[in-house]
Amino acid sequence: MRIEIYKKGRAVKQNYDWKEELRSRISSADELLEFMPDLPESPLFRRLYASVEDFRKVAEAMAGEFRFSVTPYYLSLANLENARCPILLQILPRREELEDQVFQFPDPLAEDSHHPVDGLTHRYPDRVLWYLSHNCAVYCRFCMRKRKVSRSNSAPDRSSYSAALDYIRNHKEIKEVILSGGDPLSHSDQTIQFLLTELRTISHLSSLRIHSRMPVTLPSRITDQLTDVMRQAFPVTLVTHFNHPVEITEEATSAVRRLRMNGVTVLNQTVLMRDINDSTQTIEELMLGLLRIGIKPYYLHQCDEVHGVSHFRANIETGLQILRDLQGRNPGIAIPRYVIDLPGGGGKVPLENQYLRRRTDDGLEFENWSGLKFTTVQDREDK
Ligand SMILES: *Cc1c(COP(=O)(O)O)cnc(C)c1O
Ligand code: SF4
Repeated sequence: MRIEIYKKGRAVKQNYDWKEELRSRISSADELLEFMPDLPESPLFRRLYASVEDFRKVAEAMAGEFRFSVTPYYLSLANLENARCPILLQILPRREELEDQVFQFPDPLAEDSHHPVDGLTHRYPDRVLWYLSHNCAVYCRFCMRKRKVSRSNSAPDRSSYSAALDYIRNHKEIKEVILSGGDPLSHSDQTIQFLLTELRTISHLSSLRIHSRMPVTLPSRITDQLTDVMRQAFPVTLVTHFNHPVEITEEATSAVRRLRMNGVTVLNQTVLMRDINDSTQTIEELMLGLLRIGIKPYYLHQCDEVHGVSHFRANIETGLQILRDLQGRNPGIAIPRYVIDLPGGGGKVPLENQYLRRRTDDGLEFENWSGLKFTTVQDREDK
């Protein structure tokens, strides 16, 4: 089934390139139904929509807000027999997105009010986020930048690059630039090369980082030309975005391998989402799977409070429990940091379990991962 859709989407040629694959994306309700004629019979579809007509209506109503578009590759990972298929849940437009009563604001993180120049969000003194593109290979329904992503208008264009570069050059406190979006890898290799080369000449930068979901949604984007560009700009860190173990495929593995072999440090961020990955078993399998293909888990995100996303949110207690379950039972390097981005522009803070329990006459009492108590004498003299 997976191979079927993928091949159809690859057009007829064997030697397709990633741009062709992008052009052959499935981008409307009708196209989706054509590619997946069995979709309306699936338990997931029946749960989400009253009828095919209903689905069409929802898709149409959402189209102006946040596009539907999926690569044949990513769609081929769907499993119609799974009532909670994590692939379909991430891409299918739903009525809840329009009717969200819980998360009210399009920009809860106040990114648009920390804009010194077009495209740059400078919230933390030492890091800037450079919003380079509205485009992504797949539009994820839970996207925290829905207000901008997938729109065809007003993405910062090339003419804004020099203003952004000047700003970075003139602010010596900036230690890291994060190329973000949308997906910055939707730009050509030449553009990526231009940006990385320019940034490399700025001596106060310690780190160049790229945030891209393409290793997950369009692995063919990781071409030899692109990895050459990244090798020349060494060291580059790429933070990608796997949310579920089914996304760890042969294609994704090979893309990550090519990045690693060319000197790119590959990290991952995952959004914790109800019904998709909010269980210890899924997160554990995902984190170990990432490690196995050469990725260091970086963040597990609590869902941002963006309008139209609240049906995805998982309980913070669930997240903390998952982290508690991972601790001590998994390699430390497989354990991501669980974070929440505070509404109002407060930035990210870690969500952590308390292992330091209390101060006793003997010192500090800790509870370890398995619930046993241990006391250290450290700090006994201090108080
Ligand atoms: C998340 C974020 C960053 C990067 O934060 P790290 O904790 O370094 O990964 C930078 N700027 C903004 C505005 C962010 O939201
Ligand atoms: S790839 Fe990232 S920016 Fe693009 S839609 Fe998905 S979450 Fe949003």
